[in-house]
Amino acid sequence: MTLKDRVAIVTGGTRGIGKGIVRRFAALGAKVVVIGTNGETALQAAQELEREFGTETGSFGCDVSDAKQVDQTLDAVVERFGRIDVLVNNAGIARDNLILRMSDEEWDEVLTVNLKGMFHTTRKAVRQMLRQRSGSIVNITSVVGLTGNAGQSNYCAAKAGAIGFTKAVAKEFAAKGIRVNAVAPGFIATAMTEGLPEKMKEELSRLIPMKRLGTAEDVAPVVAFLASDDSAYITGQVLTVDGGMVM
Ligand code: NDP
Repeated sequence: MTLKDRVAIVTGGTRGIGKGIVRRFAALGAKVVVIGTNGETALQAAQELEREFGTETGSFGCDVSDAKQVDQTLDAVVERFGRIDVLVNNAGIARDNLILRMSDEEWDEVLTVNLKGMFHTTRKAVRQMLRQRSGSIVNITSVVGLTGNAGQSNYCAAKAGAIGFTKAVAKEFAAKGIRVNAVAPGFIATAMTEGLPEKMKEELSRLIPMKRLGTAEDVAPVVAFLASDDSAYITGQVLTVDGGMVM
């Protein structure tokens, strides 16, 4: 598998699962553009990749929930690199609460970053991909978008929405050389899950047939596969990476 000289944008590429993805992409020869909310953090992440893998990189501070920032950022990527081959919509947040206690802000924030952000970046990137008549988009959803999870109605709605979005956009662009797929990780050890109570982590681990939490390195190769030409005849699919938790 190779991503040699492919220009790949990864939102939320500064840490967690996104960091695993940018490292994998850089190892496969891609020119990686790291996006995070903070420009300085994104720059540091990109410099780290350059040092370790000797690959060309770009970095941008960009809030994906802001359409204007997204448009400007992706314009700057095309100006600098000339194309967009891969877009990974990985940026995401959680604001968990039981439905009776959930505020409008918690609902809106999660839907706006996790789902509307994906719409903003996709709408802009496909314009360039249409010109090229090629491109691969990988959306990071979650197994809870398939199963639901108590206390995460906002997050589950966004992640289930991302699956519908993936399939709709896949159908719109299948004949134009643009593929759109989703990856649904299970329970992955990152900052997002670090704060969960120990007891909940133990209970969740018990539900995983493979008896361990996943890592960013478990997810990244699957994203790389969907980004690469090795998956040339795959579109509109959701691949779960969850140690067998949902089957
Ligand atoms: P982290 O909290 O570790 O990282 C989140 C990343 O998203 C950071 O790089 C952050 O950048 C970026 N980000 C957050 N908000 C925005 C925004 N508005 N605009 C741009 N970037 C933003 O999360 P994970 O690595 O755990 O999660 C990554 C993705 O995987 C998410 O979509 C999550 O929902 C999904 N997922 C995670 C699972 C898990 O168990 N961890 C399971 C299933 C799915 P910065 O810090 O620079 O702001």
